[in-house]
Amino acid sequence: MPTEAWDDTPTIPKPEYGSPHLNEIHDRIYKKPHPIIGPVDKAYPRNIGWFPEHTRKQAGTPPSPFKISDLTIKRMTRIFTDRHIGRAFPNCAKNWRSRMYPEKIMSFMKIFKSFDTRLSDATEERQWRKFVQRATNVHNRNPDAPTHTCRLCKIETESMKHLLFCRQTKPLWKAAIKLTTDILKAPRPGSIPLAVAFGQWRAHDADDPLGPEDARAFLRHVFNHFYHDFSNTDLKQSTFEWRITYYSALITFRQAAQRRGQTFKRLFANRRWTNLPAIPPQEELQAFPNVIQCFPGGTSTINPALNAEIDRAKAEAFRQTRST
Ligand SMILES: [Zn+2]
Repeated sequence: MPTEAWDDTPTIPKPEYGSPHLNEIHDRIYKKPHPIIGPVDKAYPRNIGWFPEHTRKQAGTPPSPFKISDLTIKRMTRIFTDRHIGRAFPNCAKNWRSRMYPEKIMSFMKIFKSFDTRLSDATEERQWRKFVQRATNVHNRNPDAPTHTCRLCKIETESMKHLLFCRQTKPLWKAAIKLTTDILKAPRPGSIPLAVAFGQWRAHDADDPLGPEDARAFLRHVFNHFYHDFSNTDLKQSTFEWRITYYSALITFRQAAQRRGQTFKRLFANRRWTNLPAIPPQEELQAFPNVIQCFPGGTSTINPALNAEIDRAKAEAFRQTRST
């Protein structure tokens, strides 16, 4: 069977507009690069050349756009909040000072920077952070609330400040501070309300007015559980019993410490046979000797005194639940 070859080459050559050199200049002037280049399954937006809509005018000359890789949560929060609040400082600072110890509260800038410790995460600190920012839901915050009287002592007005001074909460704060001094070996704080509210241990103008990190972390665990139990007295008509709150705080504090031990264990297991360092620096391992002892091989032990205190608190909490 004879085959026939078809010649597909066009008889008329493609038209050419301008020289390649001129085309290149034209493209450079009029064509912007595509914001997204590449096949669908491999295309990512270009890293450079972005800026948020509302900052377009302030982008500067020459404009200094963002790189997508520079957009951290911190930076994005700033971008989204800037348009509403500019550089204004949170109202809570002024409002706290107008309500208690106006001259004694330390710099709020330092308090905000102290958020997040190595023994408490954002969830465990949630209620405490809300308290610092004066966002805690208390009776006198709502003008339409049926009563402004404290749900615990039923005597005084329930304000955020009152939570620190209420006769029903005082034993809890006292027990929590006692744990920080006796077991975590923290110095005695200058004022218990300031320590609970802001983690402040020393005078506001001291070099470092904050308390030790583990002590502050523990107080944040306590505050978290306190708020839970405190609000349940309204929501579920439960009884506030500080010994139970204290015990639950000890439990999550110990869990946070164990979590830290686990990170070192995982690090050791993952890196043991690699060239990467498998053992964290000594100061990290020894950061909280009164909470957890961490050893280079990835093992760790909770301070026996802390375990003993948890057992004691558990027994007391159970005795309390039986008697009520
Ligand atoms: Zn009260």
